[in-house]
Amino acid sequence: MSDERRWRERSLWLDVLPGSLGPRLALPGDRAYDVAIVGAGFTGLWTAYALAVADPALRIVVLEAETAGFGASGRNAGFVSAGIAGQAAVYERRAGLEGVIRAERAMVEGIDWIGAVVAAEGIACSWVKGGSLRVATSAPQLARVQAGLKEKRRRGLGPADTSFVTLEEIRARLAIEGALGGVFTPHCARVNPAALARGLAEACERHGVTIHEETRVTRIAPRRAETLRGTVTAEVVVRATEAYTGGIHGHGRRFLPLATRMIATEPLPAATWAALGWTGCETIADQAHHFVYGQRTPDGRIALGGRGLAYRSGSRIREEDERDPAVGERLVEALHRLFPAARDAAITHRWGGVFGAPRDWSMAVRFERASGLATAGGYGGHGVVASSLGGRTLADLVLGHESDLVTLPWVGHEQPRWELEPLRWLGAHAVATVLASADRVEARTGRAARRSRLVARLAPGR
Ligand SMILES: Cc1cc2nc3c(=O)[nH]c(=O)nc-3n(C[C@H](O)[C@H](O)[C@H](O)COP(=O)(O)OP(=O)(O)OC[C@H]3O[C@@H](n4cnc5c(N)ncnc54)[C@H](O)[C@@H]3O)c2cc1C
Repeated sequence: MSDERRWRERSLWLDVLPGSLGPRLALPGDRAYDVAIVGAGFTGLWTAYALAVADPALRIVVLEAETAGFGASGRNAGFVSAGIAGQAAVYERRAGLEGVIRAERAMVEGIDWIGAVVAAEGIACSWVKGGSLRVATSAPQLARVQAGLKEKRRRGLGPADTSFVTLEEIRARLAIEGALGGVFTPHCARVNPAALARGLAEACERHGVTIHEETRVTRIAPRRAETLRGTVTAEVVVRATEAYTGGIHGHGRRFLPLATRMIATEPLPAATWAALGWTGCETIADQAHHFVYGQRTPDGRIALGGRGLAYRSGSRIREEDERDPAVGERLVEALHRLFPAARDAAITHRWGGVFGAPRDWSMAVRFERASGLATAGGYGGHGVVASSLGGRTLADLVLGHESDLVTLPWVGHEQPRWELEPLRWLGAHAVATVLASADRVEARTGRAARRSRLVARLAPGR
């Protein structure tokens, strides 16, 4: 199979991109740069962009194993959202209430920062800032919506940031079956994420960054990134490989690569859209433990994703797992249940991706000047805005800028490593199983499943 076809098959978003995904030139041999960045997902590209804009004289190279946007950045649900990466409680324990309030604000402001770059660089990624609607479809989900709202208020978010919406208010936006109530936040844009990643890569190049694709880094060491095609020496080496980090020598236990899946329908006819509404393009999610999330795509489909938190022993990532029919069928069932008007639509795309789960559910942004090593990641499935904060923060740290970003509670944090196998697999499997069984109990009884509390500290934030 050609690279182009294999890359397009990774997601709807990559598949519908116009033009060719033909690879950029691979690293042609040993080279010297000021900054070498490993990984051309959002973290690597935002780091390169922020550095290049701040200091055009810097010689920056991005080394990507496949093609820009190949990882989670080109496969996600396209929510440019303010949902905090990881667990807010972890940041509060570290930096107090004031610290977590600043983190929440940074996420909110980060959306418009990305929007401004999209506009300034002319990135065609179908950006629509229509907000986000989280709906409860059962009494326990409604109770979680209300508890979550109370918690958001405590963390400094007012009614203009997030507010309760009644069933009537939901119906005025879209026809979603079984909704009882929910919360709406204006702080979310929907995009084609692969178009954002690819457009950002081109913007980086316009600012003088060199990108080499099909160049896998095998080892990172102080001031060196080694590949089979040559070694790059640089004052600063940035690891921006999130869920894929385990593939680099010596980094096997940094993150758990957790798989999450998506499906997309064919473009729906006008009559179906007339029945569904959804003209505001707000992103949607339910409040199940393994929640379902989705968007109305720029070309008139419904794209739906669902957490299943599948983990393969040894942190292995295998492309053949991405089409697991069991998960796909769960999403088709959710599509039919939530949007009966789209019941007859063909499912044209099924795909999956991995996000990086850190052991303590805290993202981290680190730079050690002595070694020149830098990294950002561990966003726990909420990385679109967090990765831009990570990249901008790394740029400030490298350039010695004392900005507000470098005082956020994830800066300088060292994530603990995951346990050795088989403990890692047993833990991940147990959490996923408990959450799935809690969803089944709630669906059957209509009452909150207490068992989910057993694993609350080990599960990702929402
Ligand atoms: C299905 C799904 C849905 C999601 N939905 C959302 C959402 O709607 N909103 C949200 O905020 N977050 C979402 N996320 C999470 C978000 O996509 C990620 O947190 C974010 O994209 C991480 O960006 P990254 O650049 O750190 O990692 P990635 O995008 O994974 O990029 C890492 C890059 O490094 C490359 N690489 C790996 N190993 C090497 C190597 N050895 N040498 C060179 N290059 C290498 C990879 O090929 C890849 O291109 C979702 C994730 C998934 C999987």
